[in-house]
Amino acid sequence: MSITTASPSTPSPAAELPSGRSDLVIVGAGVVGLAHAFEAARRGLTVTVIERDWQPVGASVRNFGHCCITAQRGDLLELAYRSRAGWLEAAKSSGLWAKEAGALVVARSEAELAVLEELREERGADTVRLRTREEVAGELGRGADAGDIVGGAFLPDDLRVNPREAAPDLAAWLSIQPNVTVVWGTNVNGVEEGTVHTGRGPVHGDRILVCVGHDLDRLYPTAAEEHGIERCRLTMARVAAPDAFRTDAAILTATSMLRYDAFTAMPSGPRLREEVIGHSPELLDVVANVMFTRLPDGTVLVGDSHAYGRTAIPFEDEPTAQLLLDSAAKVLGTGGLQVKERWQGVYASSGSGPLLVRDMAPGVRAISVTSGIGMTLSFGLAAATFDESLAATA
Ligand SMILES: Cc1cc2nc3c(=O)[nH]c(=O)nc-3n(C[C@H](O)[C@H](O)[C@H](O)COP(=O)(O)OP(=O)(O)OC[C@H]3O[C@@H](n4cnc5c(N)ncnc54)[C@H](O)[C@@H]3O)c2cc1C
Repeated sequence: MSITTASPSTPSPAAELPSGRSDLVIVGAGVVGLAHAFEAARRGLTVTVIERDWQPVGASVRNFGHCCITAQRGDLLELAYRSRAGWLEAAKSSGLWAKEAGALVVARSEAELAVLEELREERGADTVRLRTREEVAGELGRGADAGDIVGGAFLPDDLRVNPREAAPDLAAWLSIQPNVTVVWGTNVNGVEEGTVHTGRGPVHGDRILVCVGHDLDRLYPTAAEEHGIERCRLTMARVAAPDAFRTDAAILTATSMLRYDAFTAMPSGPRLREEVIGHSPELLDVVANVMFTRLPDGTVLVGDSHAYGRTAIPFEDEPTAQLLLDSAAKVLGTGGLQVKERWQGVYASSGSGPLLVRDMAPGVRAISVTSGIGMTLSFGLAAATFDESLAATA
């Protein structure tokens, strides 16, 4: 089949249901649903994507746009590398911004540096490239003022996308493919074998994928409860960048290291945790991951904190937001950051495991990333889904 090449930047609103039956119906136009649509379209399947809103507004547009590859471990590491290849393929086809910009982990203590050195031992010097304090300060635009930085590591395999545009660009590109229909503004009320029930009528498909992120509990409350899915709320801001901060690498700090298995599994991982408990208990109280990424327009996304519950309450805690901004400003060696926007991110979280992939009825599968790494894994998950279905039909 032929793939139409174009690089539109906004989805064209259309709420017309397809008249016929599709090979695949996907519920949800976040990055997980769209990555599956992309992989299906590439394989020549007819695809219908149904999204309740008029553009992507879920977790997929509220995040850092950091495909956090190297910090994964085991099966997730393999899936993340697969996903990386998928993102680059999607970028080539659709024109969406994806940059092999890597990530820079800033170390400000000997324990942080020890974790990075141990990871380099495990993964090799090409994958974890140690940096001196001067190099890290230079990369951050701090010039000769390295402050309390002791060194760091550059992780070249990490990938950056623009979260504001990746899902909309992908959806817009998909919607002009001859074998794909994207239906906006259409809520799905229920799913059964072969049929998706929407507020506008039924949509039929041979296979159905339900990719609704944290809203899985709306359609499948029992499955969500069995997997222990909660909503994780995150505090985010977009700020003006200090002039000299130019890198597109994601910037990670000690609290970021505490969130990823690749770092915590290192021999110095426990020492790092004890150290952060000692000097920054307030960051652990809000389950912070102090990190930031630069958007192509030069502004910077800063976050984040994590608060868990079945309902995402709407109220944002200003001291938490300020703590995150002050912590990022300190890494950048600047007095303060000028906030341009604030928002709350929400994603699916579970103590039972990082993924929910479950068959709900014959030909109906639910897929939710329940660990806050859906940007990292989306295309890998999609590739795995289609590998499996090819194996099943072989
Ligand atoms: C602040 C923040 C920072 C993050 N940082 C990172 C990061 O740096 N790296 C990383 O890998 N991940 C990160 N994540 C996680 C990542 O954003 C998510 O895991 C990922 O976007 C989930 O994608 P999704 O498509 O499953 O969900 P979503 O993007 O939420 O999409 C689900 C879609 O389903 C639609 N939908 C829901 N119910 C229905 C229905 N009944 N009918 C029709 N449509 C429906 C919704 O409207 C929505 O568009 C972050 C998340 C947040 C919030």
